[in-house]
Amino acid sequence: MIFPITALLDDEQSEKWLREHFHPEGLRCPKCDSAKRRIFRETQTSRLTVYRCLDCEGVYNLYSGTLFEKKHLRPSQVVLLLRGVAKGESGMRLAEELSVSRTTVHELRKQLQQNARRLQPDAPLMDEHTETDEMFQNAGEKR
Ligand SMILES: [Zn+2]
Repeated sequence: MIFPITALLDDEQSEKWLREHFHPEGLRCPKCDSAKRRIFRETQTSRLTVYRCLDCEGVYNLYSGTLFEKKHLRPSQVVLLLRGVAKGESGMRLAEELSVSRTTVHELRKQLQQNARRLQPDAPLMDEHTETDEMFQNAGEKR
């Protein structure tokens, strides 16, 4: 049975949660690091607020400079994907529940795990708790 889970999770709340976890020190322009911005528009598919930087005129959103850039996922899909990966749910199931392609789920999972491993090179592989914490804290990093 596939639960309509993304329909039940609020995108506004999810966006807030992601912003706190991806940008704990506040959202800034990825190009010039300025925090001065105005709301420019909202993206159609992911329903994200797009900002225009007042210093360099660059345009960015919550996902800019993160693994989720240009994936066209709604905030609720990103939250649930992170949760699913942390819980070790199967890619097929996640793809179905979140209406995301299996390729996207596979790629993001791989990158998230690489991030976690890169930041915890000496942690034992079985230490899932540590890995999960690291993964969440650094999900916003691209490399
Ligand atoms: Zn800027």
